[in-house]
Parts: sequence; C-alpha cells; structure tokens
Amino acid sequence: MDRLIVLGTGNANATRCYNTCFAIDFGNELLLCDAGGGNGILRQLADAGIGLNRIHHLIVTHAHTDHVMGVVWLMRMIAAQMNAGKYEGELHIYASAAVREGLMQMANFMLQPKMIAQIGKRILFCDVTDGQTETVAGQETVFYDIGSTKMQQYGFTIRLMDGRRLCCMGDEPYNPICERYVKGADWLLSEAFCRYCDRESFKPYEKHHSTVKEACELAQQLGVPNLVLWHTEDKHIQERKKLYSEEGSAFYNGNLFVPDDLDVIEL
Ligand SMILES: [Zn+2]
Repeated sequence: MDRLIVLGTGNANATRCYNTCFAIDFGNELLLCDAGGGNGILRQLADAGIGLNRIHHLIVTHAHTDHVMGVVWLMRMIAAQMNAGKYEGELHIYASAAVREGLMQMANFMLQPKMIAQIGKRILFCDVTDGQTETVAGQETVFYDIGSTKMQQYGFTIRLMDGRRLCCMGDEPYNPICERYVKGADWLLSEAFCRYCDRESFKPYEKHHSTVKEACELAQQLGVPNLVLWHTEDKHIQERKKLYSEEGSAFYNGNLFVPDDLDVIEL
C-alpha cells in the first residue's frame, strides 16, 4: 500500500515542527515534495528512514523559503553522493522554469563546481506548466497552476498504485479555477494556517492562507473522502491533532488527518 510520509507540518514561521514537506512511498519508487527551509530536511529524512539514494523524484511547488531552501541541501548532498559513487541513477526535479532558474542561481552561488557539474548530467530539471502530465515516480501526475497571487505555484494530482488520485494543493487555499484538477480526488492535501476560532490571533487571510474550518468545508463540498491538513502555526503543537480535528469534524464527514512530523499515513 502507498504510504504518505509526513516530513514536516509547519508553516514558514514554525520552529517547533519542520516546514511542510512530504514523501509518498510507492514501494519501489518514492516521490518527495518540497524540502522545507534548510538542512532540517536531512534530519527529517534520516528519522523517517529515507536514504538519499531513494530520492530520484522531487517536486518543488514554489520558490518560497520554507519550501525551497532544503532543495539546495538535497542537491548538495546528492551531488556529493553521486561524485562518491554512492548514488545510482538520476535525480529528477519537477518545477516551474522560474523555480528552476532560482535553484540554478542558488546552486551556482552556494555549491562547489564539482557538485554543480552534476546539474544537467544526473540532476535533471523538468519544467512544468499548467495542465502538464508527467510520469513521476512511475505514477501519472498532472501539474496545475494554483492561481496564486503571491508567487507562481504548482499543485499536482498523482495517481496512486490502485488507481485512486491524490491532490496536493500547495500551500494556499483552493482556487475554484482549479476545480477540474481537484474534484474527484480521493485524497486532498491542504494547508490550514490555524483554527477558524484563532483567526484573530494568527490572521491567516492576510497571508493568503485559510483555516481548518474552510479547508474542511471545501473537502466536504467537493466530496473528497480523505483530507490531510498541515502548513499550520506551531503555537498549539502539543494539542494540534486534537484541537484541529475537533474543529474540522464539525464541517467535514470524511477521514480527517492532522499529522505530526514523521507520522505515516496509509493511503
Ligand atoms: Zn509555505
């Protein structure tokens, strides 16, 4: 069975959990989506038991700090392992052309020439555009522009091994222009900045984020049977699962997951 390995659950400012990023383990193949804001990704991967040599497919949704800085670390570590003969095959990075350009600039600025030399050789970028279909980690994946007004961002819908579909909406609320990509999904991965009842303290709307209530109402309205909430504040981290689940269950009848870092969800 496919497993969703939750590597991080926090928003950009969270320090009591890692920034939101995850892997899907399909058995033979593995997909990594985003890498959080730094070399904490290496710790999360190690604690999740994911060796760097298992990472061959990486989707980068957008270029904000909390999603992209860890990618530089992965490029550095994987290029070093390639050079040392400890990594087989290629690393495919799926991202917009703008993210690719930004990562190239960061690599050129921060990494050693012998690591940069692997880019284009064994570290291969695949530019994605709205509606583009690719086979990622062996699974049919459709990328879509989430319609962000802050920065171009891509979500995607990936087919699971049993044919069901999982949709990652990135770190912004659902935009109705994306309905054809999101509707009919069996799993929805959604941001929820905080609880609706805490909206005055965390001000999610100013930051183009939403709350547990809205994410749950959306999943209910779209008839999605499984909903995962993350990209949250970290002030309630100890009780987050309980508190968020309580608020969400008033608006959503499906299976609601509010994972902690390193939780594993059977898909
Ligand atoms: Zn974010």
